[in-house]
Amino acid sequence: MLIFNTQKDLISHLNSISNLDTSIGFVPTMGALHQGHLSLLKEALLKNSIVVTSIFVNPTQFNNPEDLAKYPRTLEKDVEKIKSISDKIIVYAPSVDDIYDGQTVSKHFDFDGLENQMEGKFRPGHFDGVGTIVKRLFEIVKPNFAYFGEKDFQQLQIIKKMVTKLEIPVTIIGCPIHREPNGLAMSSRNERLTREERKEAAIIFQILKQSQKLFKTKSATVVTEWVKKAFEKKPNFQLEYFQIADEDTLLPCIKKSKIKKYRAFIAVFVNKIRLIDTISLN
Ligand code: AMP
Repeated sequence: MLIFNTQKDLISHLNSISNLDTSIGFVPTMGALHQGHLSLLKEALLKNSIVVTSIFVNPTQFNNPEDLAKYPRTLEKDVEKIKSISDKIIVYAPSVDDIYDGQTVSKHFDFDGLENQMEGKFRPGHFDGVGTIVKRLFEIVKPNFAYFGEKDFQQLQIIKKMVTKLEIPVTIIGCPIHREPNGLAMSSRNERLTREERKEAAIIFQILKQSQKLFKTKSATVVTEWVKKAFEKKPNFQLEYFQIADEDTLLPCIKKSKIKKYRAFIAVFVNKIRLIDTISLN
Protein backbone atom coordinates (compact mmCIF):
# COMPACT_ATOMS: atom_id res chain seq x y z
CA MET A 1 0.00 0.00 0.00
CA LEU A 2 1.34 3.43 -0.88
CA ILE A 3 1.56 6.12 1.80
CA PHE A 4 2.66 9.64 0.90
CA ASN A 5 3.61 12.32 3.40
CA THR A 6 4.14 15.16 0.95
CA GLN A 7 1.87 16.63 -1.70
CA LYS A 8 4.81 16.74 -4.12
CA ASP A 9 5.26 12.95 -3.99
CA LEU A 10 1.50 12.29 -4.08
CA ILE A 11 0.94 14.56 -7.09
CA SER A 12 3.84 13.06 -8.99
CA HIS A 13 2.54 9.52 -8.34
CA LEU A 14 -1.04 10.44 -9.32
CA ASN A 15 0.25 12.07 -12.52
CA SER A 16 2.14 8.89 -13.39
CA ILE A 17 -0.92 6.61 -13.06
CA SER A 18 -3.77 8.87 -14.27
CA ASN A 19 -5.07 9.04 -17.80
CA LEU A 20 -8.36 9.82 -19.55
CA ASP A 21 -9.82 6.44 -18.50
CA THR A 22 -9.01 6.66 -14.80
CA SER A 23 -11.36 8.06 -12.20
CA ILE A 24 -10.08 9.26 -8.85
CA GLY A 25 -12.30 8.76 -5.80
CA PHE A 26 -11.28 10.68 -2.69
CA VAL A 27 -12.18 10.28 0.99
CA PRO A 28 -10.83 13.00 3.28
CA THR A 29 -10.58 12.03 6.98
CA MET A 30 -8.95 13.09 10.21
CA GLY A 31 -7.97 9.50 11.06
CA ALA A 32 -8.87 7.34 14.06
CA LEU A 33 -10.74 5.38 11.43
CA HIS A 34 -13.87 3.36 12.16
CA GLN A 35 -16.45 1.46 10.08
CA GLY A 36 -18.09 4.76 9.07
CA HIS A 37 -14.90 5.92 7.35
CA LEU A 38 -14.36 2.46 5.85
CA SER A 39 -17.88 2.50 4.37
CA LEU A 40 -16.95 5.69 2.48
CA LEU A 41 -13.80 4.00 1.18
CA LYS A 42 -15.80 0.93 0.09
CA GLU A 43 -18.21 3.17 -1.78
CA ALA A 44 -15.28 4.92 -3.48
CA LEU A 45 -13.76 1.57 -4.49
CA LEU A 46 -16.98 0.59 -6.29
CA LYS A 47 -16.86 3.49 -8.72
CA ASN A 48 -13.24 4.54 -9.17
CA SER A 49 -10.08 2.98 -10.56
CA ILE A 50 -7.94 5.05 -8.15
CA VAL A 51 -8.93 5.68 -4.53
CA VAL A 52 -7.10 8.20 -2.35
CA THR A 53 -7.75 8.90 1.32
CA SER A 54 -6.19 11.64 3.40
CA ILE A 55 -5.49 11.38 7.11
CA PHE A 56 -4.92 14.84 8.51
CA VAL A 57 -6.10 16.41 11.75
CA ASN A 58 -6.76 19.89 10.42
CA PRO A 59 -5.88 22.48 13.09
CA THR A 60 -7.80 25.36 11.47
CA GLN A 61 -11.21 23.71 11.92
CA PHE A 62 -10.85 23.33 15.69
CA ASN A 63 -12.16 26.24 17.74
CA ASN A 64 -11.34 24.41 20.99
CA PRO A 65 -7.57 23.87 21.58
CA GLU A 66 -8.20 21.02 24.03
CA ASP A 67 -10.33 19.19 21.44
CA LEU A 68 -7.47 19.54 18.91
CA ALA A 69 -4.81 18.40 21.40
CA LYS A 70 -6.83 15.37 22.47
CA TYR A 71 -8.03 14.34 19.01
CA PRO A 72 -6.93 10.67 18.63
CA ARG A 73 -3.98 10.12 16.29
CA THR A 74 -3.60 6.46 15.34
CA LEU A 75 -1.90 6.36 11.92
CA GLU A 76 -0.48 2.83 12.17
CA LYS A 77 -3.81 1.31 13.17
CA ASP A 78 -5.57 3.37 10.48
CA VAL A 79 -3.25 2.01 7.80
CA GLU A 80 -3.97 -1.57 8.95
CA LYS A 81 -7.73 -0.93 8.74
CA ILE A 82 -7.42 0.52 5.24
CA LYS A 83 -5.27 -2.46 4.16
CA SER A 84 -7.95 -4.82 5.44
CA ILE A 85 -10.38 -3.57 2.78
CA SER A 86 -7.89 -3.00 -0.05
CA ASP A 87 -4.14 -2.60 -0.42
CA LYS A 88 -4.73 -0.47 -3.52
CA ILE A 89 -5.95 2.57 -1.59
CA ILE A 90 -3.45 5.43 -1.66
CA VAL A 91 -2.94 7.20 1.68
CA TYR A 92 -1.94 10.83 1.97
CA ALA A 93 -0.86 11.63 5.55
CA PRO A 94 0.75 15.07 5.41
CA SER A 95 2.32 17.24 8.11
CA VAL A 96 0.71 20.58 9.00
CA ASP A 97 3.54 22.31 7.13
CA ASP A 98 3.01 20.31 3.96
CA ILE A 99 -0.54 21.66 3.82
CA TYR A 100 -0.17 25.15 5.26
CA ASP A 101 3.47 25.98 4.43
CA GLY A 102 4.07 27.89 7.67
CA GLN A 103 0.79 29.85 7.56
CA THR A 104 -1.72 27.79 9.54
CA VAL A 105 -4.74 30.02 8.97
CA SER A 106 -8.14 29.68 7.29
CA LYS A 107 -9.42 31.52 4.27
CA HIS A 108 -12.86 33.08 4.67
CA PHE A 109 -15.77 31.55 2.73
CA ASP A 110 -19.32 32.62 1.97
CA PHE A 111 -21.55 29.53 1.87
CA ASP A 112 -24.77 31.54 1.39
CA GLY A 113 -25.64 31.35 5.08
CA LEU A 114 -25.28 27.56 5.48
CA GLU A 115 -22.26 28.32 7.69
CA ASN A 116 -24.25 30.42 10.17
CA GLN A 117 -26.48 27.63 11.51
CA MET A 118 -25.86 24.98 14.17
CA GLU A 119 -22.18 23.89 14.02
CA GLY A 120 -21.26 27.27 12.57
CA LYS A 121 -23.01 29.08 15.42
CA PHE A 122 -21.44 27.01 18.17
CA ARG A 123 -18.01 26.52 16.59
CA PRO A 124 -17.02 29.94 15.22
CA GLY A 125 -14.61 29.68 12.28
CA HIS A 126 -15.13 25.90 11.97
CA PHE A 127 -16.46 25.96 8.41
CA ASP A 128 -13.78 28.40 7.22
CA GLY A 129 -11.31 25.76 8.43
CA VAL A 130 -13.25 22.96 6.71
CA GLY A 131 -13.55 24.95 3.44
CA THR A 132 -9.84 25.79 3.53
CA ILE A 133 -8.64 22.21 4.00
CA VAL A 134 -11.11 20.54 1.62
CA LYS A 135 -10.40 23.06 -1.16
CA ARG A 136 -6.64 22.56 -0.64
CA LEU A 137 -7.02 18.75 -0.70
CA PHE A 138 -9.16 18.93 -3.85
CA GLU A 139 -6.42 21.01 -5.53
CA ILE A 140 -3.81 18.39 -4.60
CA VAL A 141 -5.77 15.17 -5.33
CA LYS A 142 -7.98 16.49 -8.20
CA PRO A 143 -10.66 13.84 -7.58
CA ASN A 144 -13.56 13.07 -9.93
CA PHE A 145 -15.69 11.95 -6.97
CA ALA A 146 -15.36 12.85 -3.28
CA TYR A 147 -17.20 11.03 -0.49
CA PHE A 148 -18.56 12.64 2.67
CA GLY A 149 -20.69 11.22 5.49
CA GLU A 150 -24.23 12.36 6.25
CA LYS A 151 -23.16 12.21 9.90
CA ASP A 152 -21.75 15.71 9.26
CA PHE A 153 -24.75 16.73 7.17
CA GLN A 154 -24.12 20.47 7.45
CA GLN A 155 -20.53 19.92 6.29
CA LEU A 156 -21.80 17.82 3.35
CA GLN A 157 -24.15 20.63 2.25
CA ILE A 158 -21.38 23.20 2.66
CA ILE A 159 -18.93 21.21 0.53
CA LYS A 160 -21.60 20.85 -2.18
CA LYS A 161 -22.13 24.63 -2.02
CA MET A 162 -18.40 25.28 -2.20
CA VAL A 163 -17.80 23.17 -5.30
CA THR A 164 -20.78 24.78 -7.05
CA LYS A 165 -19.80 28.34 -6.16
CA LEU A 166 -16.09 27.89 -6.92
CA GLU A 167 -16.78 25.67 -9.95
CA ILE A 168 -14.50 22.88 -8.70
CA PRO A 169 -14.86 19.93 -11.12
CA VAL A 170 -15.73 17.16 -8.64
CA THR A 171 -18.95 15.30 -7.82
CA ILE A 172 -19.77 15.15 -4.12
CA ILE A 173 -21.36 11.91 -2.88
CA GLY A 174 -23.15 11.78 0.48
CA CYS A 175 -23.00 8.44 2.34
CA PRO A 176 -25.30 7.10 5.10
CA ILE A 177 -24.40 7.19 8.80
CA HIS A 178 -22.79 4.06 10.27
CA ARG A 179 -23.89 3.32 13.82
CA GLU A 180 -22.72 1.14 16.71
CA PRO A 181 -25.08 -1.78 17.45
CA ASN A 182 -26.74 0.37 20.16
CA GLY A 183 -27.47 3.14 17.64
CA LEU A 184 -24.71 5.58 18.65
CA ALA A 185 -23.33 7.21 15.49
CA MET A 186 -19.74 6.06 14.97
CA SER A 187 -17.26 8.84 15.61
CA SER A 188 -13.54 9.13 16.32
CA ARG A 189 -14.56 11.02 19.46
CA ASN A 190 -16.36 7.92 20.80
CA GLU A 191 -12.84 6.62 21.59
CA ARG A 192 -12.68 9.20 24.37
CA LEU A 193 -15.86 7.98 26.08
CA THR A 194 -15.72 5.47 28.94
CA ARG A 195 -17.43 2.15 28.33
CA GLU A 196 -20.32 3.30 30.52
CA GLU A 197 -20.66 6.65 28.67
CA ARG A 198 -20.60 4.86 25.34
CA LYS A 199 -23.49 2.67 26.47
CA GLU A 200 -25.46 5.60 27.85
CA ALA A 201 -24.85 7.70 24.70
CA ALA A 202 -27.27 5.39 22.86
CA ILE A 203 -29.91 7.76 24.24
CA ILE A 204 -28.94 10.36 21.60
CA PHE A 205 -30.18 8.23 18.70
CA GLN A 206 -33.19 7.01 20.69
CA ILE A 207 -34.24 10.62 21.25
CA LEU A 208 -33.67 11.43 17.57
CA LYS A 209 -35.90 8.50 16.57
CA GLN A 210 -38.59 9.67 19.02
CA SER A 211 -38.38 13.18 17.60
CA GLN A 212 -38.85 11.72 14.10
CA LYS A 213 -42.05 10.03 15.29
CA LEU A 214 -43.34 13.12 17.12
CA PHE A 215 -42.68 15.40 14.16
CA LYS A 216 -45.27 13.48 12.12
CA THR A 217 -48.02 15.08 14.23
CA LYS A 218 -46.40 17.95 16.19
CA SER A 219 -44.70 21.23 15.31
CA ALA A 220 -40.91 21.75 15.35
CA THR A 221 -41.29 23.89 18.51
CA VAL A 222 -43.17 21.18 20.40
CA VAL A 223 -40.65 18.52 19.36
CA THR A 224 -37.72 20.78 20.35
CA GLU A 225 -39.22 21.43 23.79
CA TRP A 226 -39.76 17.69 24.27
CA VAL A 227 -36.10 16.96 23.41
CA LYS A 228 -34.84 19.67 25.80
CA LYS A 229 -36.91 18.19 28.63
CA ALA A 230 -35.69 14.67 27.85
CA PHE A 231 -32.06 15.80 28.26
CA GLU A 232 -32.81 17.74 31.46
CA LYS A 233 -33.44 14.35 33.05
CA LYS A 234 -29.95 13.16 32.05
CA PRO A 235 -27.27 14.76 34.28
CA ASN A 236 -24.30 13.37 32.29
CA PHE A 237 -25.55 14.99 29.08
CA GLN A 238 -25.57 18.69 28.22
CA LEU A 239 -27.63 19.47 25.17
CA GLU A 240 -25.91 22.21 23.14
CA TYR A 241 -28.52 22.44 20.42
CA PHE A 242 -31.39 20.54 18.86
CA GLN A 243 -32.67 22.03 15.63
CA ILE A 244 -35.20 20.91 13.06
CA ALA A 245 -34.14 22.47 9.80
CA ASP A 246 -34.82 22.53 6.08
CA GLU A 247 -32.29 20.10 4.51
CA ASP A 248 -31.39 22.50 1.70
CA THR A 249 -31.14 25.87 3.44
CA LEU A 250 -30.47 24.53 6.97
CA LEU A 251 -32.78 27.27 8.24
CA PRO A 252 -34.89 26.31 11.27
CA CYS A 253 -38.36 25.00 10.50
CA ILE A 254 -40.85 27.62 11.69
CA LYS A 255 -43.94 26.35 9.90
CA LYS A 256 -44.00 22.90 8.31
CA SER A 257 -44.29 22.77 4.53
CA LYS A 258 -45.26 19.59 2.65
CA ILE A 259 -42.80 20.28 -0.14
CA LYS A 260 -39.73 20.68 2.06
CA LYS A 261 -37.42 18.00 3.43
CA TYR A 262 -36.64 18.32 7.10
CA ARG A 263 -33.91 16.93 9.29
CA ALA A 264 -33.22 17.03 13.02
CA PHE A 265 -29.70 18.01 14.11
CA ILE A 266 -28.27 17.57 17.58
CA ALA A 267 -25.06 18.37 19.48
CA VAL A 268 -24.62 16.99 22.99
CA PHE A 269 -21.76 16.97 25.48
CA VAL A 270 -21.26 13.68 27.28
CA ASN A 271 -19.17 15.06 30.12
CA LYS A 272 -16.52 16.93 28.07
CA ILE A 273 -16.89 15.03 24.80
CA ARG A 274 -18.99 16.73 22.15
CA LEU A 275 -21.05 14.41 19.93
CA ILE A 276 -23.24 15.26 16.95
CA ASP A 277 -25.92 13.28 15.14
CA THR A 278 -28.75 13.84 12.68
CA ILE A 279 -31.83 12.11 11.30
CA SER A 280 -34.05 12.68 8.29
CA LEU A 281 -37.64 13.51 9.33
CA ASN A 282 -39.55 12.92 6.09
P1 AMP B 1 -13.74 12.84 10.15
O1 AMP B 1 -12.55 11.93 10.20
O2 AMP B 1 -14.52 12.86 11.40
O3 AMP B 1 -13.39 14.21 9.61
O4 AMP B 1 -14.70 12.19 9.07
C1 AMP B 1 -14.29 11.94 7.76
C2 AMP B 1 -15.49 11.59 6.93
O5 AMP B 1 -16.12 10.43 7.46
C3 AMP B 1 -16.54 12.71 6.94
O6 AMP B 1 -17.10 12.84 5.64
C4 AMP B 1 -17.56 12.20 7.92
O7 AMP B 1 -18.87 12.69 7.71
C5 AMP B 1 -17.50 10.70 7.66
N1 AMP B 1 -18.00 9.97 8.82
C6 AMP B 1 -17.67 10.16 10.12
N2 AMP B 1 -18.39 9.35 10.92
C7 AMP B 1 -19.22 8.65 10.10
C8 AMP B 1 -20.21 7.65 10.31
N3 AMP B 1 -20.53 7.23 11.54
N4 AMP B 1 -20.86 7.14 9.24
C9 AMP B 1 -20.57 7.57 7.98
N5 AMP B 1 -19.63 8.51 7.71
C10 AMP B 1 -18.96 9.04 8.75
